[in-house]
Amino acid sequence: MSDRGAPVADCLFCRIVAGEIPSDRVHEDDQVIAFRDIAPRAPTHILVIPRAHIASAAELTEADGPLLGRLFGAAAQVAREQGIADDGYRLVTNVGRWGGQTVDHLHLHLMGGRPFDWPPG
Ligand code: 5GP
Ligand code: ZN
Repeated sequence: MSDRGAPVADCLFCRIVAGEIPSDRVHEDDQVIAFRDIAPRAPTHILVIPRAHIASAAELTEADGPLLGRLFGAAAQVAREQGIADDGYRLVTNVGRWGGQTVDHLHLHLMGGRPFDWPPG
């Protein structure tokens, strides 16, 4: 088994982190990157991800608290920079098949620019 957080060769988002696959980045720091979703479901649809490979929110523990603070902090900063903070926005992380997860590298969907229904479909 690989070290937790180490890059996974066949992980799409690890490859985006590494720059092997191009992305439209709107934020990057030492722990987090954010880039535009390739198939946006809202006028603003950005993925906020840790550089470290974590398969999903189901893998998180208390030790990830500082990283999660950085992840949510980056999402809030990007929301302000993208001009969607005042009206409000949706932050979502899908887990597993029925949750709608298609990429097994933890990511927050930052979506804004229109109102959202609750509960989601
Ligand atoms: P999930 O379905 O796992 O919650 O979210 C994965 C998201 O990644 C989807 O919204 C999908 O459109 C996006 N996505 C898949 N492949 C790529 C890609 O190559 N580049 C970018 N920027 N987004 C992608
Ligand atoms: Zn990964």
